Amino acid sequence: MAEEVQQYKCPNCSAELRFNPKKQGFVCEYCDSFFTTEECKKANEQIASQQEEQKPHQDEFEEGNQLYSCPSCGAELVTDLNTAATECFFCHNPVVLKGRLSGEYRPAKVIPFKLSREDANNIFKEWCGKRRFLPKDFTSDSQLLHMAGVYVPFWVANCDVRGKMQAVCKQVRSWNSGDYRYTEVKEFDVYRDASLVFEGIPADGASKIEDRLMEAIEPFNYDDAKPFEMSYLSGFMSDKYDVDKSQVFPRIRNRAVNGSDAMLRSSMVGYDSVRVTQSDMQVLKTEWEYMLLPVWFMTYQYRDEQYSFAINGQTGKQAGTPPLAVNKLRLVSALIFLVCTLFSIFLGMLVSGIL
Ligand SMILES: [Zn+2]
Ligand SMILES: [Zn+2]
Repeated sequence: MAEEVQQYKCPNCSAELRFNPKKQGFVCEYCDSFFTTEECKKANEQIASQQEEQKPHQDEFEEGNQLYSCPSCGAELVTDLNTAATECFFCHNPVVLKGRLSGEYRPAKVIPFKLSREDANNIFKEWCGKRRFLPKDFTSDSQLLHMAGVYVPFWVANCDVRGKMQAVCKQVRSWNSGDYRYTEVKEFDVYRDASLVFEGIPADGASKIEDRLMEAIEPFNYDDAKPFEMSYLSGFMSDKYDVDKSQVFPRIRNRAVNGSDAMLRSSMVGYDSVRVTQSDMQVLKTEWEYMLLPVWFMTYQYRDEQYSFAINGQTGKQAGTPPLAVNKLRLVSALIFLVCTLFSIFLGMLVSGIL
């Protein structure tokens, strides 16, 4: 009789794992994690007991939302029943009603907006005021109408990391005695083997929104996160996530691994030099929370390019690339060219003795 094979889920991204006989462990084909059978079993047990505790209220979500889609860019927007969406916050085209979004997309938590539309407009105007060569209509009142309060879908991860590090560290001491100068070098083999926990690493789950733009307006303060209720969406848009956990996991892992590496390095104190010879950081388990985070969002189409501007709706931190008005830039470079030409004519006259 064939032995029943235990099916494990990836502790980092919940995809089905496959046993790899060569490596004698489980490899995740989706997020590229590797686990020994022991690590895998332990993490799966922990995750199962946590899921028991948090049975979601999906019905309320399923009944309380409206789903819109943008025929032009494909964005899918969610609001509560009382808020009508008219234009796509991303491309400014009219959206069409599509029905309801299923309960599996129900967020666990939400950080409510702290900044009003007026606050966001003021931050935007101030930001524009510090920049030159902006196209005129970029700063106009009609452009301000496109400022949209969007709850951006985020995957927020807590990672358990096992970090091992080896280093050769040196302490150097010099002193004079008589006519001689002595130098003493002490060399140490230093090892670290640590369990680390990283909490609240965010990655946005919206493919349309640039990752770098969202990273630039971090951090969010999760102390303000509330259990999700439909009423938070009132008056705001939300975007449906279209990037899955396994797709964002490599970004999360990078941050957890780099953070762990830096932490272990910084623990090697009291030496004059540290040379790391081996660093092995493994993410053993990841807990996910699907959260909506508040962002004031503005996009602007200029000469076939899309420019995006974002303000953290909790802290007011802003980020974005300003569009540069080509005609204004041309005028300035023409002026610079003219000045340079005049100057070289002047120099030429000076050299040839006319002046
Ligand atoms: Zn995985
Ligand atoms: Zn659109």
